[in-house]
Amino acid sequence: MDNIRYKIALVDDNIATLNQGKALLQEFYKVYTIQSAAILFENLEYNIPDLILLDIEMPEMNGYETFAKLKADPRYKDIPVIFLTGNKDEESEEKGLSLGVTDYITKPFSPGILRLRIQNQLKMIEQLHTVQYEIMKYKLTSDALNIALWDMDVVIDDPINPNNKFIWSQELRHMLGYTDKSDFPDLLLSFNEHLHPEDKEKTRNAFLTHLNDYSGETPYDLEYRLRHKNGEYRHFHAFGTTLRNNQGIPLRISGAVRDITELKQMQINIANANERVHLMLDSTPFCSQLWSRDLKTIDCNEAAVKLYGFKSKQEYIERFHECSPEYQSDGQLSAEKAIMLVKKAFDEGACIFNWMHQIPDTFERMPAEVSLVRVKYIDDYVVAGYTRDLREHNKMMERIHEEEERLQLMLNAMPLACRLFGHNYEFIDCNQQALDLVGVNNKEDYIQRSNDIIPEYQPCGRKSDDLKKEYLDKAFAKGYLKFEWMYKLSDGEELPCEITLVRVIYKGEYIIAGYIRDLREQKAIIEEMRRAEIAEESNKAKTRFLANMSHEMRTPLNVVVGFTDLILEDESLASDLKISLSKISTAGNTLLGLINDVLDISKIEAGKLELAPVYYEVPSLINDIITLNMIRIEDKPVTFRLDINNKLLCRLYGDDLRVKQIINNLLSNAFKYTEAGSVSLGITTEHLDEENVCMDIIVKDTGIGIKKDDLKKIFIDYGQVNTNTNRNVEGTGLGLAITQKLVEMMDGKITVETQYGKGSVFHASIKQKCKDRTTIDPEQMESIKKFRYSENKKTDRKKLVRDDLSYAKALIVDDVQPNRELAAGLLSKYKMQVDCASSGEEALDLIHKTETSMEQNYNIIFMDHMMPGMDGIETANAIRNFDTDYSRKVPIIALTANAIAGAEDMFLDNGFQGFIPKPINIYKLDAILKKWIQPNFIKPDETNTNFSYDKGETK
Ligand code: ADP
Repeated sequence: MDNIRYKIALVDDNIATLNQGKALLQEFYKVYTIQSAAILFENLEYNIPDLILLDIEMPEMNGYETFAKLKADPRYKDIPVIFLTGNKDEESEEKGLSLGVTDYITKPFSPGILRLRIQNQLKMIEQLHTVQYEIMKYKLTSDALNIALWDMDVVIDDPINPNNKFIWSQELRHMLGYTDKSDFPDLLLSFNEHLHPEDKEKTRNAFLTHLNDYSGETPYDLEYRLRHKNGEYRHFHAFGTTLRNNQGIPLRISGAVRDITELKQMQINIANANERVHLMLDSTPFCSQLWSRDLKTIDCNEAAVKLYGFKSKQEYIERFHECSPEYQSDGQLSAEKAIMLVKKAFDEGACIFNWMHQIPDTFERMPAEVSLVRVKYIDDYVVAGYTRDLREHNKMMERIHEEEERLQLMLNAMPLACRLFGHNYEFIDCNQQALDLVGVNNKEDYIQRSNDIIPEYQPCGRKSDDLKKEYLDKAFAKGYLKFEWMYKLSDGEELPCEITLVRVIYKGEYIIAGYIRDLREQKAIIEEMRRAEIAEESNKAKTRFLANMSHEMRTPLNVVVGFTDLILEDESLASDLKISLSKISTAGNTLLGLINDVLDISKIEAGKLELAPVYYEVPSLINDIITLNMIRIEDKPVTFRLDINNKLLCRLYGDDLRVKQIINNLLSNAFKYTEAGSVSLGITTEHLDEENVCMDIIVKDTGIGIKKDDLKKIFIDYGQVNTNTNRNVEGTGLGLAITQKLVEMMDGKITVETQYGKGSVFHASIKQKCKDRTTIDPEQMESIKKFRYSENKKTDRKKLVRDDLSYAKALIVDDVQPNRELAAGLLSKYKMQVDCASSGEEALDLIHKTETSMEQNYNIIFMDHMMPGMDGIETANAIRNFDTDYSRKVPIIALTANAIAGAEDMFLDNGFQGFIPKPINIYKLDAILKKWIQPNFIKPDETNTNFSYDKGETK
């Protein structure tokens, strides 16, 4: 041992001892000789010895006192002290030892003992230093590792008794925020108190399991949480080993704990980060995965698992190599190419490429776009791969391609001109029709000249160019737009078009297809329709006008004809006056015929003419026609013949008035246009089936005939021919038009054969109905045939013998005074009492008055139809509504100028008993009076019960 490095202080008041000691020791140690305690403490300030040899008996401060002072000073307390004593008694030795004295040497010294004792002490010091050094080393390490030590004597019977001594190194206290040992005493209790409640059980189990395993193979190694002074728990990793005796019985256990709170937090952070990464990966619809440098799949997301039809990430990782076909489309081996590409990503940071995948279980091919990116992962790099399934995308592209092709096809096959525009209104393409429209042969010329056909301004006044852009913008935004557009062709002709803009996809982008439709034809049709509408409207107006006029004309005519006939009754009239009045009457009647015609044609045109079928007697119809027409022969050298045979059916069902009208028109024309020769009327009937009969009417004349060219005009309204030659013949040109229409209404047709200058044959065949097959009585037939013109050709009227009806009282209701007067004049011939009312209201008053007084009631009421205020029908209804026996039965006769077909039925249906068209025909009036005026009909009480006002037969 190299003792010389130790310093020894020898303290004694005895110089001899000091010298002796120094002589003995200086060969081995550095010896300081000090004569008193005071000098020792002075020296200590600058020179601390490794060992003090201290004399006990010294003046001033003895050895024990000095020793106590040394121990009290932390700087010197650890310096070992050996007492020097002259007389070593037991008492003082005990005192010294109790103070902590290490050793005693008795004076005078034996040199060998002195050296040995000193050597021992120094050895101890050396050992202490070694320990201290180790502790220092441990401290450095434990500080660096954040480790604290612990140690515990094992109490076999009760190793977990809380009061067991449990020693902790100071570091643990620091770790838990304590400085003072008293805050965390060395007891198992302190540990238990700080242990997290949830960790108690596992810590106890780990501890006991470790202790009870006598083999010593179960380590004590676990993690638990201890409460910090600030209340937070910190994580610790504890481990320990147990010292056992030969039998394996534990003697003591010691170990270390390490504060792993930060580490733990880091682990949690890493776990969280990992979770976040996974979450992010799993939430992307792209299939993603991570590769390590050695091309191992480290991880993947849920989308990847799903895409390939795997059940778990694990399966994906294990079977990923099955997700590519053996070869890629460029012929490279998939496995080799993959290595190359992943390596490229590691080297260059990223790469993108197309890759053919396959679904492992179905072998379905899946083209995909793969992006590889190098990313930092823990402390190395990995490559993250994103796979985009291109199947849908490719299908879409295919569709787009198909659509484009279709579009091209449609473009060229379409009968409309079509242009395609891009986003900047630029021309993209057009079809042949568009080229034709501009008048060019190829698309280059079209681009040059397509704007030539657009006028600067559109009809709305806007600049064509501005409007075009506006429309295209709208079409891009809305997808569809239709509008009218005006082009101007090279010859200046305006070309109105309808343009339809449709947004379509072309080469993957929106463009506009514009379809151009030539509107010229349509516009012309519309214009035509507009004209027709106007024409129709004016036609309707004309019809309305004619209907109103003809009605208005009848009223004055009624008065003219009526009064003429009334005056003609006077037999004392001078003959020249009689002739004049007869001409007025004839002209009046002709005028009436014309008005009827006008009314008819306007009704037909307005579609308001309806047939009113009834059962009628054919012979009487023929008789009426002949009677009416014979007067037309006048004084002309014309003979008339009637051709009928005994097969002629007697009773038919149809509109007899209109049948008469047809025959009358034909016959009257024949007489009208025949100056000399003959006219014949032939009528035959033939059964078509059980119910239907065809009536053939043939009217022949030897008159002027009709020119071929004129034939087509004669059935047209107001169509007269030979206007020059016929100037002296009356007519409006309506007769045949009405006739033809009536014939057609009866499912028939009318034809004419004629020779100009020689004569005409009109042939009308109409359909009538028949229930009764009775044919004409031969006698009757003969009597009609024998009709002699001379018998009927009377200018004088048949004398009418009137009854004396002076007992009867009549009421005339008409708003027009001359009408009232005329009617009153006609009735006065019967000596009747006559009252007049100028309105429906006045009539009701008068009737009411007679009913409620002793005055005589009216035996008959003549009622005008058209009146201001209440019209005739309303007044008649009001009378019936008095609801007295009289008012229900009094005969009411309509007097009206509205002499249209079906009018009679209309009146009969509305509570009238009869109908006399104006102008009043005296014979008809006579018949009505004969029928309805009876002497005993004076008061309701005396009513003749044979009387009924229900529909009467007044024809
Ligand atoms: P109108 O009132 O003028 O007779 P219609 O319609 O009855 O009108 O006849 C039309 C035209 O047909 C007549 O104007 C006449 O020129 C010609 N017409 C009709 N019937 C005959 C006939 N029997 N003989 C010669 N011409 C006829």
